Amino acid sequence: MKYEPIYNELIKYMKTENIRLSEPLRDHVYTKLGGKADLFVTPESIEELQAALEIGKAHDLPLTVLGSGSNVIIKDGGIRGLTIGMGKLTNLSIEGERLHAQAGAAIIEASRLALDFGLSGLEFACGIPGSVGGALFMNAGAYGGQISDVLERATVMTQSGDVLMIDKGDLELSYRKTTFMDSDYIILEAEFKLDTADPVVIKAKMDVLTEARESKQPLEYPSCGSVFKRPPGHFAGKLIQDSKMQGVRIGGAEVSKKHAGFIVNIDNSTSKDYLDLIDLVRTTVKSTFDVDLDTEVIVLGEDE
Ligand SMILES: Cc1cc2nc3c(=O)[nH]c(=O)nc-3n(C[C@H](O)[C@H](O)[C@H](O)COP(=O)(O)OP(=O)(O)OC[C@H]3O[C@@H](n4cnc5c(N)ncnc54)[C@H](O)[C@@H]3O)c2cc1C
Repeated sequence: MKYEPIYNELIKYMKTENIRLSEPLRDHVYTKLGGKADLFVTPESIEELQAALEIGKAHDLPLTVLGSGSNVIIKDGGIRGLTIGMGKLTNLSIEGERLHAQAGAAIIEASRLALDFGLSGLEFACGIPGSVGGALFMNAGAYGGQISDVLERATVMTQSGDVLMIDKGDLELSYRKTTFMDSDYIILEAEFKLDTADPVVIKAKMDVLTEARESKQPLEYPSCGSVFKRPPGHFAGKLIQDSKMQGVRIGGAEVSKKHAGFIVNIDNSTSKDYLDLIDLVRTTVKSTFDVDLDTEVIVLGEDE
């Protein structure tokens, strides 16, 4: 596929710095591994997003959406077609007890803004390194809270460029599972309904959660956070720890010695190393405890 003609169409709508050919995606994801995107576009407005989608569709390009890249593993062969990075759509605003957040805004920033306005409900998200769109796509959660607890409605774009508003009641949101995983909607915005509360109390809660996260998670290494979902009746980290997998390495990927639920890119891991280690952990836990581990992390792209 020749991308130069598509590039020439895109520059009519977007700044050249927001259109990249053969873009190394390791620079855009938290695991710091994976191949290149054929075409990586970062729209600065809804109109630019619409134009990129239209051009991609006219050229039959497969579409991939990336938020902050904190819950994905990009395979070593990279991503064909059009990859849209949402990271430049970052508006946040408050209206009474409602917080409106564009998809590319960091959920951590949304949680800080809520604190500034004395609004409670997003404290659980104060250390989740994702975008609002990625957090909604995943129904991200921590320490007893999750996005579905505070979401009121979502605004999405279809791949034809139409904008729709969907109320929470019309979305299926459960533990790390959402309607969005079975749709091709691009999440544009989330509206959260929060509760007025004392900022001192909100801040104290956030401080406790930050301390818990920093003391337990290997934040000094690139990773995608918890690799596996919590299997019913168990904790993935405990099963992995009890399977004596901590410290096991394949290439540059290692099962974290600090938190068994994390796999860290300790020394220039390839995506293949990382994925092979995930498979090894799953088969070891299955043979030791007869428990199936499902991945929380999303794998995108092609093998090399
Ligand atoms: C150190 C660390 C700690 C973490 N802690 C937690 C935690 O406590 N709780 C938790 O739930 N998660 C945690 N995570 C995982 C991750 O931060 C969350 O899943 C986050 O919500 C992902 O958001 P993102 O923007 O990075 O999504 P990405 O990784 O960019 O994408 C994830 C998926 O969402 C899709 N997507 C992203 N944006 C959009 C959009 N606008 N429209 C449509 N689809 C979209 C992507 O296509 C992909 O399929 C952690 C990760 C790390 C690295």
